[in-house]
Amino acid sequence: MGQHTGRATGARGLRCKECGEELPLGASYACAFCFGPLEVVYDRDYLARTVTRESIAAGPPSIWRYADLLPCAPDDPTAGLPVGLSPLVRAPRLAERLGLSDVWVKNETANPTHSFKDRVVSVAMQKARELGYEVVACASTGNLAQSVAAHAAAVGMQSYVFIPADLEPQKIIATGIYGCTLVAVDGTYDDVNRLCMELAADRPWAFVNVNVRPYYSEGSKTLAYETAEQLGWTLPDRCVVPIASGSLYTKIHRGFTELIDLGLVEGGVPVMNGAQAAGCGPVAAAFEAGLDFVAPVRPDTIAKSLAIGNPADGLFALDVARGTGGTIDAVTEEEIVEGIALLAETTGVFTETAGGVTTAVLRRLAERGDIGPDERVVLYITGDGLKTLDAIASRVEPVRIQPTVADFEAAVAHTTTLEITR
Ligand SMILES: *Cc1c(COP(=O)(O)O)cnc(C)c1O
Ligand SMILES: [Zn+2]
Repeated sequence: MGQHTGRATGARGLRCKECGEELPLGASYACAFCFGPLEVVYDRDYLARTVTRESIAAGPPSIWRYADLLPCAPDDPTAGLPVGLSPLVRAPRLAERLGLSDVWVKNETANPTHSFKDRVVSVAMQKARELGYEVVACASTGNLAQSVAAHAAAVGMQSYVFIPADLEPQKIIATGIYGCTLVAVDGTYDDVNRLCMELAADRPWAFVNVNVRPYYSEGSKTLAYETAEQLGWTLPDRCVVPIASGSLYTKIHRGFTELIDLGLVEGGVPVMNGAQAAGCGPVAAAFEAGLDFVAPVRPDTIAKSLAIGNPADGLFALDVARGTGGTIDAVTEEEIVEGIALLAETTGVFTETAGGVTTAVLRRLAERGDIGPDERVVLYITGDGLKTLDAIASRVEPVRIQPTVADFEAAVAHTTTLEITR
């Protein structure tokens, strides 16, 4: 335990998001007074003195280059799986298809377990070790499962991973292989989460998204930092981000506001568009109805990684959408599948269903005329298509032939030798 003290960062304490009560940086996740959720607070003067574009550029090629802006950091940033610095690629063919001019894809499939969850797990596990935990656990909609199991394997920690039993087979296999204890629960994610809250109460385990959640969610801020750095320390005009619990969406926004506050970038905070599936769109429904509460739903969608019916950060997500002039849209199952295909055909990036949701919302916004002609838009593609093959399997049909030129020419009628030799 002593060897995991970690290096100092700008983090100074925890604060209740409801009543403002402050606590030390310990293993707390709910306010002792009002049971509100806690978040990490930073020493702004320390950050203003310490963090510059140059200090970040001189850091390691991973999320730990932003360590000062995170709740914790390893003494050795090369230990464990390297996370972050995923490609931010221009998508001119996607932009053209949608009548837009400047679209970029933040490709999070490039992380070690092929989703953005590696960022939050990296931070949560570092903090868990600093707090003396020897076992990690999580309640997962799929990608968190694989990430926790992999990161635990990389540093030799024991892990318990709880998933809804109806998860995609690809995600179940890609989790169990790391040697974790994999528990499939007959129920929805919300049932799994409730069970984990009960288990966390009397076990000395760090449930990354339950009892160390304030630290976990900070990891998502690195997506904002990276976006700005990769755009040459400028901000996009608009971001499209998927919403499950609402943590990623609200923390990307937070990351941008921190950079502006510290003078590391100029300009205003981007318009934040949230993306949900209609089959599990409680935050989109509240946004649409103009409500100040999020009514829980029972999920029924192929976008299983976004299938949280009772989102912990739903209210905060509503604030971000309204505060930035954004929206939270929900798209149908057909639009999700079309979104996966659209992104693949125009960018070469193959996303899981969550990215189909995000791409479909971008298309909606474009068709609705919400996006100005010169706007720079960043699309956050949070997970890999190989994780959700069943969702699109029926779309792909190879041309089956015998191994003869004649059969090939008969089957693939539009290809002529003339075209090939021209
Ligand atoms: C977990 C997840 C999200 C968003 O999760 P939040 O709970 O809203 O932070 C988005 N995309 C994928 C692929 C995910 O696994
Ligand atoms: Zn409180």
